[in-house]
Amino acid sequence: MENSSPTHFIRKIIDDDLTQGRYPEGIHTRFPPEPNGFLHIGHAKAICLNFGMAAEYRGKCNLRFDDTNPEKEDMKYVEAIQEDVRWLGFDWEDRLFFASDYFARLFQFAVELIQQGKAYVDSMSADQIRQYRGTLTEPGIDSPYRNRSIAENLDLFHRMKAGEFADGEHVLRAKIDMQAANLNMRDPVIYRIRRTSHYRTGDSWCIYPMYDFTQCLSDALEHVTHSLCSLEFEDHRPLYDWFIDNLDTPARPRQYEFARLNLEYTVLSKRKLIELVEDGHADGWDDPRMPTLSGLRRRGFTPKSIRDFCERIGLTKSDTYIDAGVLEHVIREELGAAAPRRMAVLRPLKVVIENYPDDKEEWLEAANHPQDPSMGTRQVAFSKVIYIEQDDFMEDAPNKFFRLTPGREVRLRYAYFITCNEVIRDEQTGAVCELRCSYDPATRGGNAPDGRKVKGTIHWVSARHARSARIRLYDRLFSVANPDRGDQDWKTYINPVSLEKLGNSLIEPDLAQAGPGERFQFERLGYFCADQQDWQPDAPVFNRIVTLRDTWAKISKK
Ligand code: ATP
Ligand code: MG
Repeated sequence: MENSSPTHFIRKIIDDDLTQGRYPEGIHTRFPPEPNGFLHIGHAKAICLNFGMAAEYRGKCNLRFDDTNPEKEDMKYVEAIQEDVRWLGFDWEDRLFFASDYFARLFQFAVELIQQGKAYVDSMSADQIRQYRGTLTEPGIDSPYRNRSIAENLDLFHRMKAGEFADGEHVLRAKIDMQAANLNMRDPVIYRIRRTSHYRTGDSWCIYPMYDFTQCLSDALEHVTHSLCSLEFEDHRPLYDWFIDNLDTPARPRQYEFARLNLEYTVLSKRKLIELVEDGHADGWDDPRMPTLSGLRRRGFTPKSIRDFCERIGLTKSDTYIDAGVLEHVIREELGAAAPRRMAVLRPLKVVIENYPDDKEEWLEAANHPQDPSMGTRQVAFSKVIYIEQDDFMEDAPNKFFRLTPGREVRLRYAYFITCNEVIRDEQTGAVCELRCSYDPATRGGNAPDGRKVKGTIHWVSARHARSARIRLYDRLFSVANPDRGDQDWKTYINPVSLEKLGNSLIEPDLAQAGPGERFQFERLGYFCADQQDWQPDAPVFNRIVTLRDTWAKISKK
């Protein structure tokens, strides 16, 4: 990846490790999602870090599904996660792994702990185990089953595996220290009975290893050198080290923690995202308002913009919220340079140019990108009836209104100067429904030979040539920056107007031939992406990715 990237503490650690010759085989990282939901932009931070470091240091990065909770996991998530990681631009080559493939190895590790007297079968209920665990201020109490003999433990554990007991009747616990200051070290449960079919192992197992036991040993089995994970696992590190120290593992991974991504105006927790979908606040995981990678992709974000975002937010050890504007900024910057310009009118207002010949049509040259001549030009049709944006006309306009108003001249982008002479209203509603204008034929291309200037330039489409389109304008999902941190339930902060659907917009004719996922700047309106799902040849759909400027910044300054 880019070597000009700013440095961070993980790079420093790896640099030091390599300088000291600690990893002659190179570094090895992994991204370990649980297949119980779709990936979100927070996961992108972990993906870019793990795959990014491996690429930068010519090491390897595995994709490993951490699938030890049979209740919520599913093959459809495995597939969606792979698609997202690939879309982001990363490749695990032949290193696609599943923790469930290690169930037999993990069982063997547990047996080894029992044989060393370092694990025991506990027969207390989950509630009792919780009570005996103590609190941050009170030490735990030993379970009455803690001193079962090795032989009894081995027998019970094998019978747990053989399905002789009901769910919850017994668990296997590591025998560490019920007085430890770190609660994770108070004899954590490492195996539990769950009579649930697993999406990969089916009914082969009725006992499943716990996350903490699985994660570090899977890393060791895969020869991972740097286990990079989010800060909430910092207190689990001593436990991981204990497992690795007490078992004969093929490698000794080291764990380093970094702060999770928190992003303003959204939520980044799979549980909450599932709720948004299930309660109908979002129209599926790939709703373009969702912070999921599939949602961002459908909205029109590019993989590069997500990678740039992850690089820009940096990597630290303290929890912060990232301004939602940062994500919008990266895509604006990329598309500002790369997206071809087109004209589209979201809310059309009819304009009749009275002195323009009825049947005439002209093709006017328009630049595809005003600053980049290499993107070429196109011909835009002009005729007597055009449509402009309703917002670009105001009848009793203040002096500072530089768009169309009766008696004042404006420029139609790439076309002519026009002047509004008459306003026609709907007889029933009184709303402005048509403007009667005149044009100056000498201003073709948008400049007056006599050097006269106009203050405003507006966009337009020719009525006879334009195609209709459905346009979706998206806004932030929540109306407050930190919905997770308010006094009320996070769902009360959902923005009720995060989606506006326009059914009668008009676009330049060639836009109707756009390929799904193609991106454009609609001049003066923002960046738009051809929707990948609802697009129909006779009914194009465009999603607004982002406005041209940060409209929220203006609002908050008011
Ligand atoms: P969630 O809280 O959304 O359910 P999770 O941590 O349970 O997330 P996993 O599938 O276990 O989801 O995550 C896989 C990896 O992604 C983990 O290593 C985790 O540390 C990392 N990760 C998850 N959320 C974030 C985030 N917001 N920022 C950075 N990394 C994250
Ligand atoms: Mg997790």
